[in-house]
Amino acid sequence: MLTHSLGFPRIGLHRELKKAVESFWKGEIDKETLFQKAKELRLNHWRLQHDAGIDLLPVGDFSFYDHILDMTAALGAVPKRYNWEGSEVDLDTYFAMARGTAGEDGGIIAMEMTKWFDTNYHYIVPEFTPEQTFSLSSSKLFNEIREAKEAGFNNIKAVIPGPLTYVYLGKSKDDNFDRWDHLDAIVNVYEEIIAGVRRELTWIQIDEPILVLDLPDHVRARFQNVYERLAKAKGEARIMLATYFGDILEHKDIVMSLPIDGLHLDLVRSPYQLGPILAELPSSMTLSLGIVDGRNIWRVDMDKGLQMITKACTALGADRVLLGPSCSLLHVPIDLEEEKKLNPEIRSWMAFAKQKCFELRVLADAIDKKVVRNILAENRKIMASRQNSPLVKNEQVQRELRATDEYMFKRSAPYSERRQKQRAHLNLPLLPTTTIGSFPQTAEIRSTRRKFKTGQMSQEDYVRAMQGFIQDTVARQEQIGLDVLVHGEPERNDMVEYFGEQLAGYCFTENGWVQSYGTRCVKPPIIYGDVYRPKTMTVDWITYAQSLTAKPVKGMLTGPITMLCWSFVRDDQPRSLTCKQIAMAIRKEVQDLEKAGVKIIQIDEPALREGLPLKRKHWHEYLDWAVNCFRLATSGVKEETQIHTHMCYCDFEDIIEWIAAMDADVISIEASRSQMTLLDTFKEFKYPNEIGPGIYDIHSPRVPSVEEMVSLLRRALQVIPAERLWVNPDCGLKTRDWAETMASLKNMVGAAGILRKEFQDIERLKSV
Ligand code: GLN
Ligand code: ZN
Repeated sequence: MLTHSLGFPRIGLHRELKKAVESFWKGEIDKETLFQKAKELRLNHWRLQHDAGIDLLPVGDFSFYDHILDMTAALGAVPKRYNWEGSEVDLDTYFAMARGTAGEDGGIIAMEMTKWFDTNYHYIVPEFTPEQTFSLSSSKLFNEIREAKEAGFNNIKAVIPGPLTYVYLGKSKDDNFDRWDHLDAIVNVYEEIIAGVRRELTWIQIDEPILVLDLPDHVRARFQNVYERLAKAKGEARIMLATYFGDILEHKDIVMSLPIDGLHLDLVRSPYQLGPILAELPSSMTLSLGIVDGRNIWRVDMDKGLQMITKACTALGADRVLLGPSCSLLHVPIDLEEEKKLNPEIRSWMAFAKQKCFELRVLADAIDKKVVRNILAENRKIMASRQNSPLVKNEQVQRELRATDEYMFKRSAPYSERRQKQRAHLNLPLLPTTTIGSFPQTAEIRSTRRKFKTGQMSQEDYVRAMQGFIQDTVARQEQIGLDVLVHGEPERNDMVEYFGEQLAGYCFTENGWVQSYGTRCVKPPIIYGDVYRPKTMTVDWITYAQSLTAKPVKGMLTGPITMLCWSFVRDDQPRSLTCKQIAMAIRKEVQDLEKAGVKIIQIDEPALREGLPLKRKHWHEYLDWAVNCFRLATSGVKEETQIHTHMCYCDFEDIIEWIAAMDADVISIEASRSQMTLLDTFKEFKYPNEIGPGIYDIHSPRVPSVEEMVSLLRRALQVIPAERLWVNPDCGLKTRDWAETMASLKNMVGAAGILRKEFQDIERLKSV
């Protein structure tokens, strides 16, 4: 039984690629040195996969930035503004597309970037224009194949994104132009690529993950012709169509009739598709079983895996079955052996990319009747230990969750009544001004946190230093004249990690990096057990801030959905249950903040939208539990306590009812870049509670003028009545510096003042 890998993390065990690329950008190393580093990494990664027991090694999965951008280069689909003159796309053009360029004339803007399906990896969105032409413009894949062979790796498989996925994920830059008109021309280049590699290898993996989405009929209809053309180009080589992140059952009819030689299924996310696919798989096709989780860090349950493999072997014969990870291993860290500080028991439940390759080998050997009995027995023991471990199970948490009743998901009065009480309680002016939470994270703040974390600073000194930053932030906000203040979040390095570190059930790796975009990597927290809050998490900081001012200070928390979406989650219970446990922990913090006298509490949920399932038919179920978790977290307070939430950088249109169902008293959203057009959604729906559409784009160092912000507010007032309108920036200010922040917020307060006065004048006139 053969094993293969669909792709491997490129960034390197110690983020070597990140470091090399960033040095190249800074001019510290030259192109040759960068290429040399990249080559070393590729060779290392092939060696590592090979030694762990992978038979068919992926080639072409390496990328200096992103594999979709690599395809754009291969197709010569470089947007005009980069002034590329044809022939091979060079590294400078490549990075210009990814990051834009600086220049006296303002430079050239980068191509857009967006999330790759429901992962936290971001790809560069292809751009299509009517006059565009396509021709083979990169020799990257051919070079890498040669490189692998020269190094003695002969059993290799080319990996490329499929043409339909490529066009589907792209965007037409001209409203009247249909990007699918380019499909034929694009497939011409694919034919050329395939013809160029077909003699070098036996398998060509073509990734079409869009097959797990709801697809319009016209897209479905295009597969047949495209794959017929590719089949003609492939000669003796074999094409494996790779799908992942869901099931392909809706498009089974199409896939089964394609002239392909192999099909890869994600059986971790969608094990139920195996039966129906086995029943219909044409005898010409090999089936690749995606059996170890490429998206999460848990070990595979080998007994369960073997059951599925056996089922497939019985139906097809072992020679038509191949084993792989569910998707590319890009989404998991490289090597668990690096983790020396994890609790050994918890660590024994995990597998990173390298360990996953080894798991595939063991499964294949087990089918081949090789002696792996000890390993299987050990796996069984580990699975059992995880299931029964007191580290995972907490009776108290489970009892509490079972005891929740419907009233815990509902505020004690509707918004209309809460509103009266909150007004009396808070006594805020019309058009109250506030911020989203974080203030500039200066070098001093970051170095203080670092010193404390590495033990170079005592707890006492750390608290004193943080209080100093809070004091400064509060004083500045008073000077600016804001109405609702915040403490500024200086103690937080990251909005999820900060809370994860204080909750039971979470652990953290030292080197568990995964690529987010380009050279940017993240180290997601891991939720391994029942989550609860051993003690208060934010109360001391917030009450300290409140002690410094007569104005209300907003408590600031991260919501349960965001905590869930930005972590590696447990795979031994539904996500909804894990989310509910987090919600319960946050509920207690919300209640403790209220008890400590905090009158306004904001619970951020920027990830609500990105947690949406890939298929529309699953949205309702997700939104239902997600919104309920938010409500569980926020409904335990008195009517006069005002609950805020915050969301940013996403479409609200199709989920607006659910946002309303969260029943926050106030929601702040990012809106300035779209010039408030986003508010149309809130108008059409008649959003019932209060809204603060952002009027200051925090991604730019530019200081918006008073007039500019007045005009944005006027636009907002056409949609939202003044009594329900808040004035705030788009998002947190942690990446800005103090000078811009002060100037911008002063203008913002000025803008609110101008409109406030206009309303007062009207009131006065009315009363005369
Ligand atoms: N309160 C957070 C901040 O201001 C919100 C960040 C976010 O929306 N991603 O930084
Ligand atoms: Zn935000």
